Order: sequence, then structure tokens, then C-alpha cells
Amino acid sequence: MPAPTTVTDTIAAISTPPGRGGIGIVRLSGPQAASIAAQLVRLRHPPGHLDQIDHAHARLADVLDADDDPARDEATRIDEALVTFFAAPNSYTAEDLVEIAAHGSPVVLQLLLRRALAVGARLAEPGEFTQRAFLSGRLDLTQAEAVRDLIDAQTLTQARQAASQMGGSLSHRVAPIKQSLVDLVALLEAGIDFAEDDLDVTPQQEIARRIAELTPPLAALEASFARGRIVHDGLTLAIVGRPNAGKSSLFNRLVERDRAIVTATPGTTRDLVTERISIGGIPIELVDTAGLREGPPRSLDGSPDGILEEAEQLGIHRSREALADAALVLIVLDATQPLNDEERRLLAAVEGRPAIVAVNKSDLVEWARSENLGAPGPSHLGTGECTSLDVPVLDFKTRESSAGGPTGSQTPAERSLPPVVSTSALTGEGIAALREKILALATGGAAAEPGMLTNLRQYQAVTTALAAFADAATANAAAIPHEMILLDLYRALWALDSLTGQTTPDDILNLIFSTFCIGK
Ligand code: GDP
Repeated sequence: MPAPTTVTDTIAAISTPPGRGGIGIVRLSGPQAASIAAQLVRLRHPPGHLDQIDHAHARLADVLDADDDPARDEATRIDEALVTFFAAPNSYTAEDLVEIAAHGSPVVLQLLLRRALAVGARLAEPGEFTQRAFLSGRLDLTQAEAVRDLIDAQTLTQARQAASQMGGSLSHRVAPIKQSLVDLVALLEAGIDFAEDDLDVTPQQEIARRIAELTPPLAALEASFARGRIVHDGLTLAIVGRPNAGKSSLFNRLVERDRAIVTATPGTTRDLVTERISIGGIPIELVDTAGLREGPPRSLDGSPDGILEEAEQLGIHRSREALADAALVLIVLDATQPLNDEERRLLAAVEGRPAIVAVNKSDLVEWARSENLGAPGPSHLGTGECTSLDVPVLDFKTRESSAGGPTGSQTPAERSLPPVVSTSALTGEGIAALREKILALATGGAAAEPGMLTNLRQYQAVTTALAAFADAATANAAAIPHEMILLDLYRALWALDSLTGQTTPDDILNLIFSTFCIGK
């Protein structure tokens, strides 16, 4: 925990969002919070001073309109409010804190704020209340980050993740690792500082064992970033395929409302349409692209057709960019059509990337329907149970032969196709399976766990510590003096400090003196 810092000024801000609402809150934090608030409001029942409010109790008060009307002797009431007082150190900021919950009128809230500033408060910087909570040691950095994440959360899963981190789940995971590290540092420091006091020098194997024990829990934490990052940041899914395959219809199915324009004329989604959805609590930005049409442009001669063609070419260019940028790709094939060369190229292009194939318009194809009804049919289709190995050959053979296309001529890309789901955007069949596949692909199979790393700063702190452990282990194996090993261990400690708060020299010294009977 950081050493508490002495803060002398009192900050004030409107803590509720801009605009009108049922309630709006002005918050004051600092040593003068109560005395400043006392000049803004008058307690009722019984009238009194703010000092008379018990900690964490709310009292009804009149908001005083003492602004710019020198003709009036006495301030009149402009609103009524609930005033809550939190005494230091048991408040959000660990300072004296007052919350004035008035009606959510911007005029009243601005008046309260202006008057607070006029009688000695300073306008709070963005995030300053939480910064004070951090500086006072009430929150560590991961908890402070979680407050921001909770406010920014777009899905319930994100909010739960942030709440768990705010409650200290990440700090609790790091704390035992850090404690073992501090123990090891103290052990080596003691061996150096008190060598002349007959303190045994820690054997090389013992140091190796302790470093080896530190690494796995930290490596597990590092691995948690795979899931934590996507819960936190979400990802983008580009829907690509030939015109008219049903991309916009699938997009709308996933969004659950008609957002993209669906038409029967190929090539009509000329611009990118995006929408944010939540699958399994993970925010996913869907990008519906223009169709990737085969062949050269038809005409670019300025005629109405040519202008349309130009717009379509622009759309196709944007689609390719979206395809290149997206973390996930959903390739939509038309179950009634044989694979064309553009689709083969597309399948080859996504090889090795996280992608899913939706064979859409399954309602128009007999085998897909029989599969969904449980009748005999190709086992790799219909319910999202296919694997990348069993699908492509049979699947596309079936489709190509049924559509009269070539058979037995799969390219290497077809043989390593992504998972395939049979869908019908028209009837909704296969959409649930498609969602499941998208979720599995998004998470990469990484399970949700308490105390995941959710941002790059946390991840870098952990990777720095892991690298430092590896260096320390190498130095120890090479019988390098303990002073040098300690440099690596301190590097790891500083990195972990940035997650859970500072380790002071006193922490290490106390440990040396409490666990070793130095006798001095
Ligand atoms: P896009 O160009 O790939 O975005 O295709 P659209 O979503 O605009 O769909 C093209 C046409 O196919 C429209 O007439 C849709 O109603 C139709 N369509 C889309 N999906 C399906 C489906 O699963 N089954 C059937 N029967 N028609 C579909």
C-alpha cells in the first residue's frame, strides 16, 4: 500500500452525469468538506450543523439560494436535499466526505458547486476522488482501475469482473506470490547484511526451489490475460462472403433486430454497418461488410451504373480492410451455391486466423433440414458440433455435388477449414450454435476465473516479474553473488508493487528482524 499522503485542500464536483435527472449529487472531499457544505445547506429536523450528523447517516436539508441577490438578507431555499456525511478515514476517499443529493437540476447542482468553490473548495480533476482513495491507501491500483472499468462496463459480465477486481480479487491473487518474494528477498538480504553474525548463507538449491515455486502461480496469472482482455476490451467480428449469401440477414439475427439493410439484389451493402452485441458477456463489435464480388469492376465510366459500381468497389475495399483488422472472421457461404474462386481465396486467406464458416440458407437445402430434425444426415452439419477436420471435405463435397459443382478437388485451404455451422437467417436455425461458436472462438477456450488480468499495464507488470524470476533463477544457477540475484528479485518486486502497492524497505527489514533471531 502506498504511504498515506497528506492532502490539505478540499475538492468538489458534480458526481452525477450531465443533464437532468431525478437526483443529482455534489460531492466534497477533504478536511473542509463539512464546513464548506455547512455554508451550502441548512439541516432540518432539528436544525443543526453538519458536525451533528453521524458518520454514514443522511439528513434532510434545505439547499440555500444565497447567490447573486444582495437585496435579500437571508438565504432562501431553492431545493431540498439529502446530505450524507462520511467521517475520515471511513469514506470512499478516506477523507471527510459529504454528498449532497439534490434534485437533478443542472441549475441547482451548478449553484451548489459554484458556491462550494466560492467558499474554499477546489474543482476536482477527473478521477480525483478515486485518486485520493488510492493515495490514502484505501484502494490499490488494480482496485482503482476496476472502479473505472465498472463505470465503463457495457455488459453485466464486464461489470461483475470489475466488481470482483474492485473487491480485491486480483490483489488477493498477487499478494501470496509477493509475500513469498518478500520472504526470499529478506532471506538473501539477511545473509548479506548479517553475514558476520554467523547467519547461514541460503544454499543455492533452496533459492532455486523458492524461485521455482514463485513462477507457476504468476504464469497462471499471466495466462488469465487471454480471457481477461477480451472481457475487458471485447473484439471485432467481420462478416464476409459473396453478395447475397445472407450476411446482413445473419448480422440482424445476431443483433436481434433489423439493423442492416437486407435486399434480394446482390451487392447492396456498400458500406460497413457495425453494431456492438454481447455474447456470453463479451462485447463483440459486428461488422457487416459489402459482398466480396468476383471478377473485375463492370464499369467506372460516370454513368449511373458506373457510379453504383464505383460505390460498390469502395465497399469491397472497406470490406477487405475490415477483414484484415478484425480479430474474428465469420465467412458466410450460400448453401444453395457451389464454392466460387473468391470464396476459396477467402478460406485460404483466413487460414490460421480465428474464423467460423456459416453455411447459410440451410432451410433451402434438404440435408441440413433433415439434420436439424434429427433424421439421418451428415453428422458434421447442423448443430455446431463440427470440427475443422471433419467438415470441409464432406461438407463442400456434399454442397458442390448437390449444386453440380466440381468434387474431389479440395485445395489445402479447404482441408483445414475453420469450424462450420449450418444456419438459416430466415428461420433462425443454427443461430444459437453460431453464437456458441463465436463465443468459443472469442475466448479461445480460456475459462473465466477470479482475479484475471484485464489490461496491458497489469499484464506487463506480470511479464516483467516473470522475466525477472527467470533471470534470478539463471543467476542463481550460475552461482552469481546474492547481491546480483537480489537486483532481479527487486525488479520483480517493483513490478508486483505496481499491482498491489508499494513494498517499503521497512516491510523487508521488519521481516528480517521478525523472522530471524539476529539477537542485535
Ligand atoms: P448479403 O448480401 O450477404 O448481406 O445478403 P442479405 O442478407 O441481404 O440476403 C440476401 C437475400 O437472401 C435476401 O433476400 C434474404 O432474405 C435472403 N436470405 C438470407 N438468409 C437466408 C436464409 O437463411 N434462407 C433463405 N431462404 N433466404 C435467406
